[in-house]
Amino acid sequence: MAKTVKRLDRLSDILCSVVDSAELIRNVHPDKKFVDAANDAHMALSSIINQLNTHQELYQSLHRVMNDATITSKFSEQELRVGNLLLADFERAGIHMPAATRDRFVDLQNRIGELGHMMITNAAPGTATVEIEDPAQNLIGVPPNIVSMFARSKTAVIPTSSALATTVLKSARNEDVRRKVYMAMNSGSREQVDVVEALLWTRGELARLLGKESYAEMSLVDKMAGTPENVISFLESLSDLHKPRAEVELDRLRSLKATHVAKGASRDIQAWDRFYYSQFIAPSAVIARPDVLADPFHAAPPTSYKSDPISAYFSVGATFQGLSQLFKSLYGVTLEPATVAPGEVWHSDVRRLDVMHEKDGKIGTIYCDLFSREAGESRKYENAAHFTVRCSRRIDDEERFGSAYHAGSMKIPGFEKDVVENGTKKRYQLPIVVLVTAFRRPSDHMPALLNLWEVETLFHEMGHAMHSMLARTDYQHIAGTRVPMDFVEVPSIFMENFAKSPEMLSSFARHYQTGDTVPLDLLRSARAASATTDAFDTQHQLQLSLLDQMYHSPLALQPGFNSTAVLAESQRLYNVFPPIKDAAWQVQFTHLFSYGATYYSYFWSRRWASRIWRKWFRGRDEQAWKEGGELLRTELLGCGGGRDPWTGLEKLGVVKDGERQGVFRARLDDLGISD
Ligand SMILES: [Zn+2]
Repeated sequence: MAKTVKRLDRLSDILCSVVDSAELIRNVHPDKKFVDAANDAHMALSSIINQLNTHQELYQSLHRVMNDATITSKFSEQELRVGNLLLADFERAGIHMPAATRDRFVDLQNRIGELGHMMITNAAPGTATVEIEDPAQNLIGVPPNIVSMFARSKTAVIPTSSALATTVLKSARNEDVRRKVYMAMNSGSREQVDVVEALLWTRGELARLLGKESYAEMSLVDKMAGTPENVISFLESLSDLHKPRAEVELDRLRSLKATHVAKGASRDIQAWDRFYYSQFIAPSAVIARPDVLADPFHAAPPTSYKSDPISAYFSVGATFQGLSQLFKSLYGVTLEPATVAPGEVWHSDVRRLDVMHEKDGKIGTIYCDLFSREAGESRKYENAAHFTVRCSRRIDDEERFGSAYHAGSMKIPGFEKDVVENGTKKRYQLPIVVLVTAFRRPSDHMPALLNLWEVETLFHEMGHAMHSMLARTDYQHIAGTRVPMDFVEVPSIFMENFAKSPEMLSSFARHYQTGDTVPLDLLRSARAASATTDAFDTQHQLQLSLLDQMYHSPLALQPGFNSTAVLAESQRLYNVFPPIKDAAWQVQFTHLFSYGATYYSYFWSRRWASRIWRKWFRGRDEQAWKEGGELLRTELLGCGGGRDPWTGLEKLGVVKDGERQGVFRARLDDLGISD
C-alpha cells in the first residue's frame, strides 16, 4: 500500500513519455506520415488516460492510502504532494461523486469542451470584410502600394483578419474609415456572443455542482493565488497604480490629435486612434495589432525589428554562447553541443545540447529546433514553445518487474545517473526537453541572425528549459515545470530580464562579420523605442486579466448576464480608452477558454521574476550572481513542483508581509517597470 503513490507516478511517467512525444512529433515533424501517426497515438493514449482517470479501483486504493495516517506519516513532503495531486486529478473527472451527480458533471464538462471548440472555430480568421467607398479619397495616408490595389474600384473590400486591415487602421487619415475598420475587426455576431455566454454559464454550473460559488473559485484552489479575491485585489492594485502612466500616453495622443483635426471636431482619443497617432510619437516602434490577439506570453514580434541593424550582432551561435556563459555563472552549468546518432532527431536542423554541471556531469539534454521549415515540408508549430519529452525522477527505489519493467520504462542508454545525496546513493532518470522556435533560416552567405525580440524569446524558453534541467525530484508528476499555472512563468520571465539588460547583451553580442562588440547606445535606443507604446499594452492586458475574473465570477450565472456590457464596464474601470458601445471583441478572446480564470498568471509571475531580479541580480557583480543563482537553484528551480512556491519565494526574501494572506500593495517594480 505504501508504494501506491510511487507506482501511480511510474505509470504516469510511462504514459506521459508516449503522449508527450506524440505531442511533440505532431507539432514539428516534417513528414506527414509521422504527424498522422503521432495524432493517432495521441488520441489512443488520451482515451487510455481517460479510462484510468475514471478507474474506481485505482482511485479507491489511492484514497485509502491518502486517508491512512499510519502510511502518510511516513511520506516525504514530495510524496505527500504527489499523492494529493493524483487524488485531485481523479476527482477532477468526478470519480468520487454519486452516480446521478457524476452524469450531470460529465455532461457539463463535455458541453464546456464543445462550446470552447466552437468559440475557437468562430474566432479563427474568417472571410468577414469591411467595405470602404471611394478608396482614392478615403484611403489618404495609406501606403500608395496598397491604395493602388483599389485604383480601379469604387469600393475597397478589405478582409478584417488581414494585415491590410491593420495597415489601414494605422495609416488612414480619415477617422470615419479608421472607426469603421476598427469596429469590423472588433465585432461579434449575436451567435458568437451566445457561445461565449453559454460557455461561461456552463462553467458556473459546473462549479456550483462542486459546491463552489464560481468557476474562478473552483479553478484557483490549486493555484498560488488561491482565491478570486486575492487575484482581483492584486490586479486592481496594479491597475490603479499603472493607469496614470497610460493616461500620460493618452494625453500625448490627444494633443497630437488636436493639431490634426478641424476646429470644433472632437479631440477625444478613441481606441481606433491609438495606432494612427502613436506612429507620430515613435514611428519605428509602432505595432498595429488588433486589440485582443496579443498573447501576453508570446506576443507578436514588432515588425520594425525585422531589418534592424542590431540583428547582425546576434547570431544564433553567439546567443547560445552567451546563454551558456550566463548559466555557468548562475548555476555552474554549461551547454555542450553533442552529435546526434542516425534516427535520433526528426529534422536535420535539430541540434542537441547536453547540459553539464561542473560537479555532477550531465544533468539532462535539450534539443533545439529553431528555424521555420523549408517550402514543401510539413508545417511546423509557428510559435515559441518548450516541450517536455522525459521528466526527471528517481528510479533506484522502485521494484523491478523484469522484462515488463524495461519495456514499460523505455530506458534510454546514457539517460540515467547515479548521485550521492546526503550520504545516500540514488539513481535518477535524466530530463529531455525540446525547444521550438520559428526563427528565419540561415542562408549560404549569412548565419541565422536574431532580432531583439527573438533574443528575448530564446532567453524566455531557455528559462523553462533550465527549470526542467535543474529540478531533481523523486517523482515525475512534480518534475521541472509541473508547478501551479500561476508560477510556471517565473523562471522564464526571470530570464527576460537578462535579455533586456544592455550590459548583459553587450557581454556576448559580436558582429557576425567584423567580430565587433555591439554599441551600447544602439541597444539602449532600441530598448527605448520598443517601450514607447508599452503603457497601453500593459493597461490592456490588465483589463483582460480582470475581465477574465469578472466573466468567471458568480455574475455569469445571473439571469440577463450580458457579456458585452461587462466588457464595456471593464473598459471603463481598467482602461483609458472610452468604452465602445456594442464592440463585442470578447468573441475573439479565446484565452478565456484556454486559461479559464487564470489569465492573470502572467502578471502574477512577472511580479516574482522582477523581485528576484532586483534583489539578487540587477546591477550586481558576478560573485553576487553566483550567490543569487545558487539560492534560485536550491530553493526554487531545483524543487520543481515538489514544494509550495510561496515557501521558495519566502526563502529568497521576495515575499512581503501579508502577501501570502492576500494583502497587496502593488509597486511599479512588480510590472518590471522602473520608477
Ligand atoms: Zn513561457
